[in-house]
Amino acid sequence: MQVRNILANIRIVLIQTSHPGNIGSAARAMKTMGLSTLYLVKPKSFPDAQATTMSSNASDVLDNAVVVDSLQEALVGCEWVVGSSARDARSLTWDVMDARTCGEQAVNKATSAKVALVFGRENSGITNDELALCHSLVHIPTNPEYSSLNLASAVQLLSYECRVASQSFALEQESPEKSEAEVVTVDAMESYYQHLETAMVETGFLDPEKPKHLMTRLRRLYGRTEISPSELNILRGMLVALLRSKEK
Ligand code: SAH
Repeated sequence: MQVRNILANIRIVLIQTSHPGNIGSAARAMKTMGLSTLYLVKPKSFPDAQATTMSSNASDVLDNAVVVDSLQEALVGCEWVVGSSARDARSLTWDVMDARTCGEQAVNKATSAKVALVFGRENSGITNDELALCHSLVHIPTNPEYSSLNLASAVQLLSYECRVASQSFALEQESPEKSEAEVVTVDAMESYYQHLETAMVETGFLDPEKPKHLMTRLRRLYGRTEISPSELNILRGMLVALLRSKEK
């Protein structure tokens, strides 16, 4: 599934926003990350010139925003709803996700269903009744002594996490399994290690009487790399050349 289609399934819901500028900034934050579905629950003033100004070139997100009277209406059609809170886990009785987990889970669900990320009022956040409509809660890790982000900043961060997660998801989908010709088998590696050991002994680099774990350490070194068959061929060619020059 393409990033665009995944993100189209993620809707941002803002509850009773009092500063129209924040609606515009949230729209801009969304558009930079590829999100476009915005629901506004009883905004104090909308449409509003301040919202348009703050949205910069994201006024299309505002033009398509859906204004509703209740959170229930904003969630119609959604299968997974996440509430966001400036309060951290210690002050909440819920299991709280961090922003990264939220992005990953939202994207996961959004591949097959509609997801809503809900944001509270600037001055008082989300009510308990509203939280009861959510399946999960997210808190963006912040300074515990000053944890309340500006509304649009919170939208920006969660939208960013959704974008990053959707990109890695799309990448996983696109990268086909490597064909046999592209992977180095264990036996090819074993035969290389034997070749390497012979070359090291022949050239005097490795004393077979005192091997000092050299082969073990080299195996670990190679184990950390994702060597390709053509790279292995280069290494083998090098060993052949070394042994040949030793014979001369
Ligand atoms: N004084 C309010 C803060 C509201 S900030 C309160 O105590 O809840 C407006 C909204 O931005 C919040 O309701 C929440 O949806 C979001 N927000 C702000 N900081 C956040 C954070 N650290 N993690 C998650 N959401 C946050």
